[in-house]
Amino acid sequence: MIRYLTELSMEAFTEAARNVPYQQVESELFPGVDLWIRRDDLIDPIISGNKAYKLIFNLLEAREQGKDTIVTCGGAWSNHIHATAAAGQRFGFKTIGIIRGERPPVLSAMLQDAERFGMELRFVSRTIYRKRAEEGFWAQLGLSGERYWYVPEGGANEQGARGVQLLGEVVQETSPVDFVEYWVAAGTGLTTGALARVTPKDVVVKGVAVLKASPAIQLAAGGWSGCSPDERPRAIEIEADWHCGGYAKVDLQLIQYSSILAKATEIPMDWIYTMKAGLGLSKLSALCNFVSLPPFRRKKILLFHTGGLQGNRGVG
Ligand SMILES: *Cc1c(COP(=O)(O)O)cnc(C)c1O
Repeated sequence: MIRYLTELSMEAFTEAARNVPYQQVESELFPGVDLWIRRDDLIDPIISGNKAYKLIFNLLEAREQGKDTIVTCGGAWSNHIHATAAAGQRFGFKTIGIIRGERPPVLSAMLQDAERFGMELRFVSRTIYRKRAEEGFWAQLGLSGERYWYVPEGGANEQGARGVQLLGEVVQETSPVDFVEYWVAAGTGLTTGALARVTPKDVVVKGVAVLKASPAIQLAAGGWSGCSPDERPRAIEIEADWHCGGYAKVDLQLIQYSSILAKATEIPMDWIYTMKAGLGLSKLSALCNFVSLPPFRRKKILLFHTGGLQGNRGVG
């Protein structure tokens, strides 16, 4: 059943998160693993996946402070831009998206959606875009004032991390079994780190790096986890070998794996994030378990489906 977030409130959002289904996957692709996939792509068909969690506290706080415009930034295929535009339209905020690079003659499908959702797109050169984290960036663009609520690229702020913590807490409440590992695709590493912040110490949070910069992701995830440095390695592990050539890159291995995975799970996945996490888990479980363990001995693992399906239009 398709559900939509219809009301901007903590209660409604938490309820929606509690209703996100877990799907058990029985497949030889994951030997020795009792695999469950949490379908956070279904929390809302348009404000989807981990980007919904990163936005909720931003939106609640913006409303509380009387802000009427959400300002954020991203690239032409940003799931965060897409989710922010959709959420603005749904909950009555104006939205402005600062987009990296020149405006192309034809917008990406993602940016077409964003405009359709009512987002004002402003294209800035890569040189200017590089300064997005500097003080005075928004003022330079004429976007300073009481009415604006600023969200950094990817939703990577403290409010974003709080939203992911809420996800972690809901998972504690609703998990169908006791998991020993969580697997999640890692871009900035915020989702990995913020999940680890609220996850019991005996659960390992595995972030599958979808880009080449895995030490940077490890560091960022550690920062968002809020743990002391000597605690971090226990809770978080970054799997670095499954980026398939880099961010938004697709290699032969991933292409071959995608159809096998689709058949095994019957779950639509995005190429840029969740599919790479699935690939890593599948290959590593095959390496680690030459003989499949009997059902009661299998390792209980939760893979997060973090959404992003709209991005598949940009692949291939
Ligand atoms: C943004 C995104 C991620 C990565 O989240 P980070 O917090 O940046 O690590 C994972 N999956 C999908 C579908 C995303 O859009």
